[in-house]
Amino acid sequence: MLDKVVIANRGEIALRILRACHALGIRTVAVHSTVDRNLKHVAMADESVCIGPAPSSESYLNMASIIAAAEVTDAQAIHPGYGFLSENADFAERVEQSGFIFIGPRAETIRLMGDKVEAIRAMKEAGVPCVPGSGGPLGDDNAANIKIAREIGYPIIVKAAGGGGGRGMRVVHTEAHLNAAIQTTKSEAKAAFGNDMVYMEKFLENPRHVEIQVLADGQGSAIHLGERDCSMQRRHQKVVEEAPAPGITPEQRAEIGKVCVEACIRIGYRGAGTFEFLYENGRFYFIEMNTRIQVEHPVTELVTGIDLVREQLMIAAGRKLSIKQSDIVLEGHAIECRINAEDPETFMPCPGLIQHFHAPGGPGVRVDSHIYEGYRVPPNYDSMIGKLIVHGPDRDTAIARMRVALSEMVVDGIKTNIPLQQRILSDAGFQQGGMNIHYLEKRLKEQKEKTISIV
Ligand code: ADP
Repeated sequence: MLDKVVIANRGEIALRILRACHALGIRTVAVHSTVDRNLKHVAMADESVCIGPAPSSESYLNMASIIAAAEVTDAQAIHPGYGFLSENADFAERVEQSGFIFIGPRAETIRLMGDKVEAIRAMKEAGVPCVPGSGGPLGDDNAANIKIAREIGYPIIVKAAGGGGGRGMRVVHTEAHLNAAIQTTKSEAKAAFGNDMVYMEKFLENPRHVEIQVLADGQGSAIHLGERDCSMQRRHQKVVEEAPAPGITPEQRAEIGKVCVEACIRIGYRGAGTFEFLYENGRFYFIEMNTRIQVEHPVTELVTGIDLVREQLMIAAGRKLSIKQSDIVLEGHAIECRINAEDPETFMPCPGLIQHFHAPGGPGVRVDSHIYEGYRVPPNYDSMIGKLIVHGPDRDTAIARMRVALSEMVVDGIKTNIPLQQRILSDAGFQQGGMNIHYLEKRLKEQKEKTISIV
């Protein structure tokens, strides 16, 4: 087993990794910025190293400082969590070149999946269903691009090969706007990602977001752990996630899961990963692969009983996968609400001092959060302060438990999105299940208009 791991992240995921390490008897090193000295996992870690000032560019994105921290503490491996350096192929490479284990896939896998054009090409070759599209980068020949778009059929979406975080995309409804849209997306992509390569695919109008969780040991074995539905989104950011996805049959799950497993084996995937799909009219369309642990991993843990971070650590230690596909049995239903320090109406971040905190509890309730009474949420990072996750024998029970848990949860001193989550959980469409990725924004718009008309 590993002996000592550096946790190169902060907040709830750093705490989650620390818990998994300690449960395996692995010692931990917390690396943190100057404003993060009071993080819960820093207090609980065996050792801690301050790696720089508040801006993440000088701390959590500072490769040299993180690797130096591993050196001075004599650690063996680095867990990147999610966000920050977790999908940075150069970082993974530097970690391994410095003699440490990067807890994640090989650098070349991360690099492949980071280039969306290459990722789609590789996935197509592996038999993964993709969105009909240009199948490669777009050139400067306007007539050729018009021809490609006609073959795909409008509306189409122009996407940056190096894009991420929902940026670098433009929907085109008519031929008259195509070439201007390609040019604008190219120059935006160049400025934002340093790479002006763009491609084109069919714009699916009412898809759901359904993703498949995988685990692979990089030694020839891989399994899938079923799917999650993450269609409740605002500005391409997930707000509520659940497992399993409403309406997906065991046959569909087995079929798409098998495709993902075979793709993992083919590319020599190692670690935990997620295949993201858009799902429309009963069909899956691959959009991208995330080569790291995801925020919403707990819903899969609750329905499968598998500790995904523990498995990441075991794989990094060189162990072969001990779980077989036939061991994966989905039980009941799980839902996760992301809890953000933000105004529930305007969505503006709301950092500050937490004066009171009461965590909910009861059967099937899990709170993954680093906050505590007297903790000050800094303004420098993502506004997520925790995740509330519930499990129940069926979806209705999970919804009921989540509603009780949300009503029990108290975070005083700052504004949070708990009232928004309460509205979502009591919404008839959400309760019905299977809504598409535009549903939440549409409902928010309707509510806003209603409020204004009442005033
Ligand atoms: P990113 O890496 O920026 O998250 P993705 O390729 O995962 O980019 O796309 C982000 C979101 O954009 C998707 O979840 C979906 O809402 C929307 N999107 C992307 N491609 C399409 C498409 N072909 N049709 C409809 N919506 C799309």
